[in-house]
Amino acid sequence: MREMDRRTLVAAGAIGLGSMAAMRAANGAEAKGGDMLFTLPQPTVPIVGSTKVFPVRRIYCIGRNYAAHAREMGSDPNREPPFYFQKPTDAVQVIAVGTTGNHPYPTLTKNYHHEVELVAFLKSGGKDIPVEKALDHVMGYAVGLDMTRRDLQNDMKAQQKPWEIGKAFDYSAVMGPIHPVEKIGHITKGRISVAVNGKVIQDAGLDQMIWSVAEQIAQLSKAFELKAGDIIYSGTPENVGPVVVGDTMLCKIDDLADMSVKVVKA
Ligand code: MN
Repeated sequence: MREMDRRTLVAAGAIGLGSMAAMRAANGAEAKGGDMLFTLPQPTVPIVGSTKVFPVRRIYCIGRNYAAHAREMGSDPNREPPFYFQKPTDAVQVIAVGTTGNHPYPTLTKNYHHEVELVAFLKSGGKDIPVEKALDHVMGYAVGLDMTRRDLQNDMKAQQKPWEIGKAFDYSAVMGPIHPVEKIGHITKGRISVAVNGKVIQDAGLDQMIWSVAEQIAQLSKAFELKAGDIIYSGTPENVGPVVVGDTMLCKIDDLADMSVKVVKA
């Protein structure tokens, strides 16, 4: 590299200086200097009974967290450490209470599945969080749908490739507003269900989770430093199944407002 080029890159912060400070700056944690080329919207989720909204940082989803669902996905349910994948932050689609939200049927799939899930929202985080302290970081809960292009997910699984195309697409993180812990407490039991066109398809007890939300937070924090703004989809029970354009999904979790979602042509 010519010295002139190198000096220009250093001045612009575009070249590594080898220090932790430089690394953090390069990661945007301490970004300074230089105007943004453009601005990006910050995805947010409304909070029931509040004018404030929750800014979304990361979306973690746990896989196969109910024994009967693990079996239907072809795996053996046991207490192996839970596994996680992520959805992009801007995959969030919020459905207002008392409405039926229109959810676009995505491209490429012919087998589009609902996965109804309890979603937890973190107001703080950390590394190596002990399980008995984990729920202190949860500010609220919502009903969620981890929408899944099952055919594409299965194709990628069969090829031992990553699942992104099956899980991490636009609008794939459907959720209702957040019910704050200060109003409803922590949700560790009760029913979770989804009915499609009035017929109940998934229906289970939240206490059937293999790993509780507290255990998920403790486990996740060993792999990632959790922070305020992180969201956790806590897994789906058995009887995941397909929806098509025109179907309406009514999702229920005891103590939370129902969420109604209609699949529409994109
Ligand atoms: Mn899921």
